[in-house]
Amino acid sequence: CGVFGIYAPEEDVAKLTYFGLYALQHRGQESAGIATFEGEQVHLHKDMGLVSQVFNEGILSNLPGQMAVGHTRYSTTGSSRKVNAQPAVVDTRLGTLALAHNGNLVNTIQLRQELLENNCNLVTTTDSEMIAFAIAQEIDAGQNWLEGCIKAFSRLSGAFSLVIGTPAGLMGVRDPNGIRPLVIGTLGSDPVRYVLASETCGLDIIGAEYLRDVEPGELVWITQEGLASYHWSQQQQRKLCIFEMIYFARPDSVMHNESLYTYRMRLGRQLATESIVDADIVIGVPDSGIPAAIGFSQASGISYAEGLIKNRYVGRTFIQPTQTMRESGIRMKLNPLKDVLNGKRVIIVDDSIVRGTTSRKLVKTLREAGATEVHMRISSPPVTHPCFYGIDTDSQDQLIAATKSVAEITKQLEVDSLAYLSWEGMLLATGEDPQSFCSACFTGDYPVTVPEQVKASKLI
Ligand code: 5GP
Ligand code: SF4
Ligand code: MG
Repeated sequence: CGVFGIYAPEEDVAKLTYFGLYALQHRGQESAGIATFEGEQVHLHKDMGLVSQVFNEGILSNLPGQMAVGHTRYSTTGSSRKVNAQPAVVDTRLGTLALAHNGNLVNTIQLRQELLENNCNLVTTTDSEMIAFAIAQEIDAGQNWLEGCIKAFSRLSGAFSLVIGTPAGLMGVRDPNGIRPLVIGTLGSDPVRYVLASETCGLDIIGAEYLRDVEPGELVWITQEGLASYHWSQQQQRKLCIFEMIYFARPDSVMHNESLYTYRMRLGRQLATESIVDADIVIGVPDSGIPAAIGFSQASGISYAEGLIKNRYVGRTFIQPTQTMRESGIRMKLNPLKDVLNGKRVIIVDDSIVRGTTSRKLVKTLREAGATEVHMRISSPPVTHPCFYGIDTDSQDQLIAATKSVAEITKQLEVDSLAYLSWEGMLLATGEDPQSFCSACFTGDYPVTVPEQVKASKLI
């Protein structure tokens, strides 16, 4: 999911949020929503569909206020329905709160039980709504906004980057491991106003300047007075999702002072040094495989070419909820350039193989277009484990590398050769402490304990 928040009384906050969500559209395409605060009063509009389908000028002009919270959603828990769209809006003793969540909790069974025991009326099926109700419960028990939120966050386990609007101010929060990203931007200078977004591309689009990340276990509280920071959790060990860097976040978003485009190019270079093969051209799978393909070409000296053209108006295939939709989505998406491919030995670079359905089809497409050899190179290690923290990588039995060796996958995809990037290569290329990333989908080493009951639902 994509989250966005802004506190700027002198601006049209609904419109800025709309543009912010537009830039975060790749993080979720099922539903979109904006809640604005006009003093104590909350205005909300949310619906199924893309940001551009959910909002228009008329709707945005009915969302006045000094502060806004926005969300784009793809479902990881809770079904794809309008009631599950966010922001979640809940009434409390101190007024209404609006909450946008990115990530996935792992202790929802226990949390739901706790909430129901306290006569809480859960409306939807999402973990995000449970967070909003947990906060409301603490507030109603007599806490103020800050104390109440901190108490509620301590009851959560899993991944949560949150933007929360309250009548008293805007809040940005990351879980103690900072699994999902969240950045702070500034707007204007006198006075300085603050913006929160899942990625820096959400700041760029409205001309906001990147200030810093919200830190793991940190809570920022943004009001008329400016920005205050609190470390709400004692234990902090960053475990940023490495999949954000490899695939999920936009290539023009900046993490660790460089664009992910640059990081992904470096992955491609590393991949070439690990598994070079003789060929005529290197192509990338649009869009996600392109930067790594360019890096592979640079390091190998084999010329880069465009061999596949993408129809940009088809959504990310993996976001479609069913396998049938996914498969027809893939056919709509990529078309080969026969002139480029015919008679060539081709290296095709992609960021990841999850189920193997895209890859198998692509190989067939390349051969039909005249490629004489097809060598596949993947700029991440084999995905062997499901994600419980908010990336929708399916249950383990759907993951091709969970049950098959590289040799078996080579056969199944009908490629002449196949190589994945090493786990070390992927982490070393970040230039950061390898310990500061979650890479559980490649190792099964889950940084936040997943309850057995939850594990059983997705593991073979
Ligand atoms: P596959 O060959 O596994 O069907 O698809 C792999 C390609 O689709 C890669 O280009 C990757 O970018 C994208 N992809 C497909 N499904 C998923 C998914 O569930 N999670 C992620 N992160 N990427 C996916
Ligand atoms: Fe990211 Fe994989 Fe960890 Fe999930 S399991 S948070 S996709 S690195
Ligand atoms: Mg892709």
